[in-house]
Amino acid sequence: MHCLSNLNADRPTFVTHLECGLDGGRYESDQIHRLSKAGRPLLVKYDMDAAAESVSKSDLHERPADMWRYREFLPVRRTENIISLGECQTPLIRMHKLEAEGGELLVKDEGRLPTGSFKARGLCMAVSMAKELGISRIAMPTNGNAGAALAAYATRAGIETFVLCPEDTPEINVREIAAQGAKVWRVNGLINDCGRMVGEGSATMDWFDFSTLKEPYRIEGKKTMGLELADQLGWEVPDVIFYPTGGGTGLIGMWKAFNELKAIGWLTGKLPRMVAVQATGCAPIVKAFEQGARHAELWPDAATVAAGIRVPVAVGDFLILDAVRESHGFATAVTDEEIVDGLNEAAQKEGFLMCPEGAATYAAWKKEVRSGRVSPKDRCVLFNCATGLKYPLPEANNTLDCHKSFAEQWS
Ligand SMILES: *Cc1c(COP(=O)(O)O)cnc(C)c1O
Repeated sequence: MHCLSNLNADRPTFVTHLECGLDGGRYESDQIHRLSKAGRPLLVKYDMDAAAESVSKSDLHERPADMWRYREFLPVRRTENIISLGECQTPLIRMHKLEAEGGELLVKDEGRLPTGSFKARGLCMAVSMAKELGISRIAMPTNGNAGAALAAYATRAGIETFVLCPEDTPEINVREIAAQGAKVWRVNGLINDCGRMVGEGSATMDWFDFSTLKEPYRIEGKKTMGLELADQLGWEVPDVIFYPTGGGTGLIGMWKAFNELKAIGWLTGKLPRMVAVQATGCAPIVKAFEQGARHAELWPDAATVAAGIRVPVAVGDFLILDAVRESHGFATAVTDEEIVDGLNEAAQKEGFLMCPEGAATYAAWKKEVRSGRVSPKDRCVLFNCATGLKYPLPEANNTLDCHKSFAEQWS
């Protein structure tokens, strides 16, 4: 049964239409779409009953464990349009030492994906759909990892890309974007300034705008985190999910996945509480959550070591807040100091090198176990969204003289 890879087996698809996430307005499938008429993200809708009739849980388990195992729940119609770099199932790793003060703690390590971050899931899907729909030039504002994933997948697809990043984007990200074939510029502003410039380029340069949630398919790629998590846990879900929230694609996508699985009876009972984790230096979603607002306000002077969640304004803010509230979760912020301490603690105690955004979820878990918002009985999942190797590490400068013995130099 394993002889057919997910990339050469054709599968039936079940997309029926798209819907505006805000007002439910209907849009045709198999056409190029950007935002809805209301200026908000579009969500892909499926005939889930027909999908569930065409594939069973045991059929899925016969297939290789990668993102494309879930084809019937994904939008790409034609197998030949899938642009893949090997999107493996990412492991769930138990943190035995870190969990001492709380309940069961698992980290889903998304750093194993192509380009070293979970942006690969979203961009793999969005670029495959761009190919399917005949798009030939793409532009994107990015804090780093999204641009790197776009560059890799678009280059593989033969699509030209233009990437704009804030000038203080981590050096490795700017270089990997360039190395993987995109044209990249540093902009003396934040991601929303880059986004505005991409918008101008789309109007005048025939760029297709791939800003977070401004095309419908990145959410579907990120949705595979939820499908995969449920699958890995034997079609069960954890009690609480801590998600480092920038544009919120993954939180929105996972919540969509859980609800789609619930609609066909593959998940029963309570869905996870979704927790949006931000940094105190850029916490627009936390502020809106606490104020009971459905939309967030632009966060002025956004600053945090966790560049991936430095997003002062998110076009899908209401979708993040709806998911958090419907799931009885919450939004919480941690300081840069807590992030760095968490990163060091996980590395020193568990040998697990997180990215700063992943460390933010650990810091938030710790804080909320103490606050009582999370119970020691809860099984919690953190998302380590990128490999820790992409980020600057502390110096290690010890040296030895090979002409002397070790003992006389040891101190
Ligand atoms: C993009 C990114 C995030 C935020 O993800 P969203 O789904 O856009 O909220 C967090 N961490 C890292 C490392 C990222 O690259």
